[in-house]
Amino acid sequence: MAGSPVVAELDLGGSGKQVGRLRVPLSRDDSGWGTQLVPIVVLANGSGPTVLLTAGNHGDEYEGQVALLDLARSLRPEEVRGRVILLPAMHYPACAAGKRLSPIDGRDFNRCFPGDPFGSFAQVLAHYVDSALLPLCDMQMDLHSGGTGMDILPSAVGHALDDPDMMTRTLAMADAFGAPITLVLREVNAGPTLLASAERRGIVALSSELGGGGRLHPENLAITKRGARNVLRHAGVLEGAPEVGPYGPSRRMTVPDMGHYVFAPVDGIWEAADPLGTDVTAGAPAGRLHRTEDPGADPIPLTYAATGLLWCVRFAGRVKAGDPVAVIARDL
Ligand code: CA
Repeated sequence: MAGSPVVAELDLGGSGKQVGRLRVPLSRDDSGWGTQLVPIVVLANGSGPTVLLTAGNHGDEYEGQVALLDLARSLRPEEVRGRVILLPAMHYPACAAGKRLSPIDGRDFNRCFPGDPFGSFAQVLAHYVDSALLPLCDMQMDLHSGGTGMDILPSAVGHALDDPDMMTRTLAMADAFGAPITLVLREVNAGPTLLASAERRGIVALSSELGGGGRLHPENLAITKRGARNVLRHAGVLEGAPEVGPYGPSRRMTVPDMGHYVFAPVDGIWEAADPLGTDVTAGAPAGRLHRTEDPGADPIPLTYAATGLLWCVRFAGRVKAGDPVAVIARDL
């Protein structure tokens, strides 16, 4: 495939702390040779592993963005052994708009990997991350939350991997991150994600879900800040052992199949029966779906099809047919 048209306005191989920009071509009506700037921070010192930490893959997920800004300000190059690459607002147009999808090309950035140097803005940027940044890395973590639509118990998220050695190394990284939950899953559509791109390149990698509802949750921010530093300690880039959170070691869980999801059968307004984090039972009421278009009809009751922990809930009130309103996790 052709080379990337993206230019890094810093030296990825340089030492010390560099705060710079990626210059991504973006042709507009009034600026045919226009470029969109994406912030990047590189800290390097001596020899050691390279860790890439990313946030703002989806623009309406804030814990990761703020945790990486904090890391960019507070990390000193002399405490680093190796290299840390930070993209605190990776899909910058979506971050600036506070939206999941791009206001430029309508793309979900995490459905654009491995990207295309001749594609839309999001595809060009994804191709750069995959082809220029990932090959430098030993470890990668992409920090997500639930966004405007969902609220999720703070969790590191890894894929179920067929290679037992990679699975062990991934779980060790998740243990080090130290979120209250580590969730191992086979995703609905994992192929075009950054996490899958990192896995294809043999990099030990994690994603996460660290809250949601389109707001910054202070407790989840503390978990994310500690977790980001813990990953650097685990990699050996920072000295010392990972810190365990006040809730203790991470609880390993899984969402084994689609039977652990509750989906809305029609459009409506979702009234949940239980708050996030409730222990729920198969057959119990999950909530009711109200249909404003039919005032004479009763709301539609939905039930859980599995027993476990209510790990993810619908946050936005309005749902469309086919949207998940609840996801249940069980212990691994
Ligand atoms: Ca996300």
